[in-house]
Amino acid sequence: MEFSSKLLEKAVYEMSQLPGIGKRTALRLVLHLLKQPKERTRFLSQALLSLREDIQFCQSCHTISDTALCEICSNEKRDKALICVVEDIRDVMAIENTGQFRGTYHVLGGKISPIDGVGPSQLTISSLVSKVRSGGIRELIFALSSTMEGDTTNFYIYRQLQDADIITSAIARGISVGDELEYADEVTLGRSILHRVPFENSLKNK
Ligand SMILES: [Zn+2]
Repeated sequence: MEFSSKLLEKAVYEMSQLPGIGKRTALRLVLHLLKQPKERTRFLSQALLSLREDIQFCQSCHTISDTALCEICSNEKRDKALICVVEDIRDVMAIENTGQFRGTYHVLGGKISPIDGVGPSQLTISSLVSKVRSGGIRELIFALSSTMEGDTTNFYIYRQLQDADIITSAIARGISVGDELEYADEVTLGRSILHRVPFENSLKNK
């Protein structure tokens, strides 16, 4: 792609570094910004900059939060003894949208995936294990997507906590195998949490 302006070329290059944005789309977005009032671009840049500068992760559940303890963890009405283990904040949002879950979450920050070079130490697994070991936890619900990486991660955590005095369950598989949680409809996802099964049973069904 030949550019008549270095500034244009640079903006298109940066935009095209985002996932799913090719050079053509990047050019379209940049030209769109140029047609908009200047402050639109300023608002966008400021929002992105402060996102990177000021964002925090909840000390307890590791979800993205504006405060040291997120709104869910600091809510008196949420059941702190019931923890739903998810991959990232999109899963928290999907489950919250069902309105069916009154427990809290633990956000792993990904799944164990040797192919992608993601091992247990890159995730927040040790924080989850020490949370459970420090007591007061009744049940862990595994709600990772049912992919090989999701299953591996569930099993790894399960093994780490096998001797702990807690219930481990897995969301019922109204969610079809291989589906990502965030794409499940709210009713299906809500039901699959209510009708969760003991984790051992979820293994036998394979
Ligand atoms: Zn939290």
